[in-house]
Amino acid sequence: MEQSFDQFNAALLYCNKCGRAMPVRQRLLLVLPDGELYDYTCQTCHSSVGSKTERAGSQASTSKTRIGG
Ligand SMILES: [Zn+2]
Repeated sequence: MEQSFDQFNAALLYCNKCGRAMPVRQRLLLVLPDGELYDYTCQTCHSSVGSKTERAGSQASTSKTRIGG
């Protein structure tokens, strides 16, 4: 069953476990004073492949991707 409240974000991120770019699931991790921190999880092996902080207000293309952790 698909969860209807999921956002349609068909982003591809490189997954270390799968060894290739995989479709990821975006999850809101926590809300920061200046934005929101999202965690990206591989839909295949369910391992975290990175995180991104989305600034609130301005749609700046600032993205911080961290592998591992
Ligand atoms: Zn994977």
